Amino acid sequence: MDIYGSLVEIVGEEFVSDQEEELYIYSRDSGAQQPRKADYVVVPKTVEEVQKIVLLANKEKIPVTPMGGGLTLSGLAVPLKGGIVLDMKRMDRIIEINEKSKYALLEAGVTQGALYSHLQKNYPHLEHSMPDAPPMATIVGNVVIQGHGHLSVSCGINSQMVNGMEVVLPTGEVCKLGSCSVSPYWFTRDPLPDLMGLFIGWLGTTGIITKIALQLFPKPKFRDLLTFTSNELDLLPDFIFDITQLNLMDNLFIISQEWPPWAQGILYVPIVSAQDEEEFELKKKLHIELLRKYEGKITLVEGKHADRMREARLPVPPVTLGVMAADAKQGGGFEYTGGIVPIEKVPEASTRSVEIAHKYGQPYLLGYQLLTSGHSMMCGLAYCLNRADDEDVEKVRNAIDETNKMILDVGGVLWKAEAPGQRLMVQKMDPNTINLMKRVMKALDPNAIMNPGNWSE
Ligand SMILES: Cc1cc2nc3c(=O)[nH]c(=O)nc-3n(C[C@H](O)[C@H](O)[C@H](O)COP(=O)(O)OP(=O)(O)OC[C@H]3O[C@@H](n4cnc5c(N)ncnc54)[C@H](O)[C@@H]3O)c2cc1C
Repeated sequence: MDIYGSLVEIVGEEFVSDQEEELYIYSRDSGAQQPRKADYVVVPKTVEEVQKIVLLANKEKIPVTPMGGGLTLSGLAVPLKGGIVLDMKRMDRIIEINEKSKYALLEAGVTQGALYSHLQKNYPHLEHSMPDAPPMATIVGNVVIQGHGHLSVSCGINSQMVNGMEVVLPTGEVCKLGSCSVSPYWFTRDPLPDLMGLFIGWLGTTGIITKIALQLFPKPKFRDLLTFTSNELDLLPDFIFDITQLNLMDNLFIISQEWPPWAQGILYVPIVSAQDEEEFELKKKLHIELLRKYEGKITLVEGKHADRMREARLPVPPVTLGVMAADAKQGGGFEYTGGIVPIEKVPEASTRSVEIAHKYGQPYLLGYQLLTSGHSMMCGLAYCLNRADDEDVEKVRNAIDETNKMILDVGGVLWKAEAPGQRLMVQKMDPNTINLMKRVMKALDPNAIMNPGNWSE
């Protein structure tokens, strides 16, 4: 039987395609990376189906690229070497919410929006840390790339919130990781050896996650944001240090963009919350009082611009101002580079990002996310592009390459890097680290079938 026939036998005719019009969609994303043609799209429903697909792919040495929402914008779920795109969206069961131990057990296709709505409806006193990404992004896709959500300062980045996983190894074994490997409860990752590190950050090159247990957090009764503005970039590291010493924020965004004009300069947007009104007001007051130390240099924004910021940034997920601006070209394309940078290097990275944007004829669109309690900053520089204009796409690709080099030059690392960005990191990497990565990949995936072209040539 041919490959198509074998896949039909596993998932049924309705859930396999080798038709051009469907392959077209799965062969590209909204970013500036080159399209790469998929040979088959398969949409499994169960872990047994995933296992059979992987066994077939491993036997026939066909690449498999797992895909959640396909929304990283950097081509990570585009099949660089062709083969099967494994669209996980039908594995969409919310299996359990453990209210007392505060976790959600989910299949890999559960989206951010689905978990959010389920909690709103059934457990309104609990929430998960939700990225700004469109609601159809999956929880698993976000964990794999080590993304961040609206609780990233108070509770950590999203891959740190994983209690357990079920994975299908590239050789077909189904493996449980975390407390679920010894207990019916998916309540903790510690104190066992942390095997989840074999799947987080690897961009689908080491196996397919089929279930995940994600931590939930108390949902506050009150939540608000403050908007501070400044023109003095050099103050940023000290201000971040001081504001994180208060240790009272859920989150902190920094926005600086050419359009609209009031968002030029630097806008600091701390988000605070509380269960009690008095505590809530006090938290806001303490943040505002911090500005005394920065008198005349960092000021509170009030009135219509503060309300505008509230409207945009308080909903979960928020309206991303950068995305509104990114539509400027109306070309359906958008990609942002995400450099994770030490706090003291953020001013230099910002200045150089603006220079790069202008060099490539783009307005600057900087959207920063503080990670954990001020330990690093995700510095996102967004580019909009007209996907119908090859020259424009090429220009943005070059701008991204230059931004990536700049981030590495200031001592940062690249987040959710497209394949050329991954190669830039590998060029700088300690050779023993590269060898260890290669050995891990070879041990797990001897035939190199998993999302090849990522973390490799
Ligand atoms: C407007 C906008 C705003 C955004 N804001 C944020 C933000 O605030 N925070 C943030 O973190 N991100 C953000 N993103 C980036 C991205 O969309 C999210 O991180 C998103 O959660 C990625 O999930 P996904 O399901 O789209 O992943 P995909 O793109 O489908 O996959 C990501 C990677 O994971 C792998 N993968 C997917 N499923 C599996 C699986 N089951 N097993 C193994 N590997 C798998 C893929 O092969 C790929 O390498 C934003 C994107 C956009 C467009």
